Amino acid sequence: MIFYGDYHTHTVYSDGKSSIEENVAAAVKRGLKEVAITDHGFRNAFCLKRREVALQKKEIEICREKYPDIKILYGIEADLIGADGRIDLDKSDFKEFDLVIAGFHPSARPYTFRDFWLINLSTYRAVLFKPSKDVVRRNTKIAIDMLTRYEIDIYPHVNHSFYVDLQEVAKACADTETYMELNAKHIDRETFEALCASEAKLAANTDAHKKESVGDLSVVERLAEECGIGLDRIENFKNPIELKRKI
Ligand SMILES: [Zn+2]
Ligand SMILES: [Zn+2]
Repeated sequence: MIFYGDYHTHTVYSDGKSSIEENVAAAVKRGLKEVAITDHGFRNAFCLKRREVALQKKEIEICREKYPDIKILYGIEADLIGADGRIDLDKSDFKEFDLVIAGFHPSARPYTFRDFWLINLSTYRAVLFKPSKDVVRRNTKIAIDMLTRYEIDIYPHVNHSFYVDLQEVAKACADTETYMELNAKHIDRETFEALCASEAKLAANTDAHKKESVGDLSVVERLAEECGIGLDRIENFKNPIELKRKI
């Protein structure tokens, strides 16, 4: 099955293995109509540097001319770095990007030591032990604060190490018109079903870190089939996702 677009792919500018052009060419080959380049945010250990934004834009312009049959979006996967919902983009950075994905990554440098204590430490513990109710409650508030503070397009890999109350965050996503992501790399059946049953708009993405994975959403297709959920529930199966910043 060919989806309309893949809105989460990484390149050599962060921890991906392929170039921007290789990802675009792979997306064309797979038959996608849209693809987004979304490298990791500015405080990630595998980050995109602020000075590289202009370079990426130039490469994307060249690809837009060379591959006119696909729409190429320029995005970023920003990092949640503060317990007040802060991410590693300044508000003035948003105008540089067609779309912004934002979520927690353990590889990102928290804003202060207190943020490290409140977010990272509890997340590392949750990898070993089940997260406590208090941690889930706090993370849920942090995620909702982030969603209401910024114009975020996609909330990625739900409950991948950073545990939240999925339904509460889905409601916040619905209220703020943010897509929740069905992430082909980080998803299990329970999360998939809960997301499909939620009120949020959904976008299925590969989170590809190499060109071979761009547009390969077979995991999502299989889960949908197993759970008896029509692919039409997923916005980008047939349609482009709606972005907050009109381009
Ligand atoms: Zn990565
Ligand atoms: Zn991510």
